[in-house]
Amino acid sequence: MKIQFLGAAGTVTGSKYLLSVDQSHFLIDCGLFQGLKEWRLKNWESLPVNPEQIQAVILTHAHLDHSGYLPVLVKNGFKGKIYTTTASKALCEILLPDAGYLQEEDAAFANKHHFSKHKPAFPLYTEEEARQTIPYIESVSWDQKIPISKDCFAIFKRAGHILGASIVQLFANGRVITFSGDLGRQKTLTVEPPKKISKTDYLVVESTYGDKLHPTEDPKETLKRFIGEAVAKKGILLIPAFAVGRAQQILFVLSQLKKSNAIPSIPIYLNSPMAQEATRIFCQFDKEQALTPTECKQMCEAAKFVSSVQESKNLNALRGPAIVIAASGMATGGRVLHHLKFLAPNPRNMIVFAGFQAAGTRGEAMIHGAKEIKIHGEQVPVRAQVKVINTLSAHADQEEIMTWLKGFSKPPKQTFITHGEINASNALKKRIELDLHWQCETPQYLQEYKLN
Ligand SMILES: [Zn+2]
Repeated sequence: MKIQFLGAAGTVTGSKYLLSVDQSHFLIDCGLFQGLKEWRLKNWESLPVNPEQIQAVILTHAHLDHSGYLPVLVKNGFKGKIYTTTASKALCEILLPDAGYLQEEDAAFANKHHFSKHKPAFPLYTEEEARQTIPYIESVSWDQKIPISKDCFAIFKRAGHILGASIVQLFANGRVITFSGDLGRQKTLTVEPPKKISKTDYLVVESTYGDKLHPTEDPKETLKRFIGEAVAKKGILLIPAFAVGRAQQILFVLSQLKKSNAIPSIPIYLNSPMAQEATRIFCQFDKEQALTPTECKQMCEAAKFVSSVQESKNLNALRGPAIVIAASGMATGGRVLHHLKFLAPNPRNMIVFAGFQAAGTRGEAMIHGAKEIKIHGEQVPVRAQVKVINTLSAHADQEEIMTWLKGFSKPPKQTFITHGEINASNALKKRIELDLHWQCETPQYLQEYKLN
């Protein structure tokens, strides 16, 4: 048995772990690389294994850095099944076609304005190709034994993080390999915390915040303060938000602030058809999240949902004070780019990033004080205030990861620390070695290990 790290090794994106058991190959997650160009280019490289030879994909959750490479896999001959929870499947059904659509749009835009070095620029996959992936997805329930081959089965357990997100345990050759997936917080707003696991032979654990502790301030208070500042300047507060997970948390926090009259009554828009769909799915799966039906209703009513392109364009005429929530969360694509072009040059406005910003993204550049950013081939000055709200993170911080790790009754034979920038993974490795004395590895891209 061996494992090879085809992504999320030395970086947070591109989660893809190849587990080979005798002659069978399984892929745990199948995500896109995002952020730095040197990583994004890897989306175009072929995998070290022919997709036809992969028997099954085990998908921990729907975020594109875990699922967004699935259409490429299917396009290149994968014929197996993709196992994931029912809620994750519902989210993939909207996320993957949208990812294809956005890539087609970006390629068309680059061709029209001649700013790509590739002539013509192609999408990695189209919306149609993404749709062809959906029939391969098989939905599973939490805490059940799911046979994925003759002598291998998987168990999905709650990971917190976002709706449907799972920790996955694979049982093969008398061994257990546990994949943390993206691990949620111990105290969360909209989903339950991650399930404790007590036994495993091998462990693959994420380390997005392996070197950090989240601030303890109540996110409601932080957002309330930012809204107060934006209102005083009669500016527009733009929140780039991941359509799945983050947008729902923000809507929930805003609904609570409105309910308690903690913020003035100003227009709030959710300009992301994807986030609207994700919010609908979130409320539909009421047994898999932590809100009451009333809280869900209030969350949905917190903002005006903007759907058509025309309505979205009309928002450019919006006068402050107002709040606009739009995807994507790291400003790598989507409608938020059009808002940024329009709002970033004006010092009256405020841009609030509400989650992890991967290296190389516009979000990361802006939170580090970039004076201008490039959007659709144009340099856009950043004069608006840029703020960060870290308390909404859907990822466990170092202490919370340690709390989860302490749930194991004995040390795994080997612990692989992945899904983090190098500093974060190394810091977590040190902490685990110091506190728990476990044998840890921080695998590099394409590194392979025997699991004996
Ligand atoms: Zn995630």
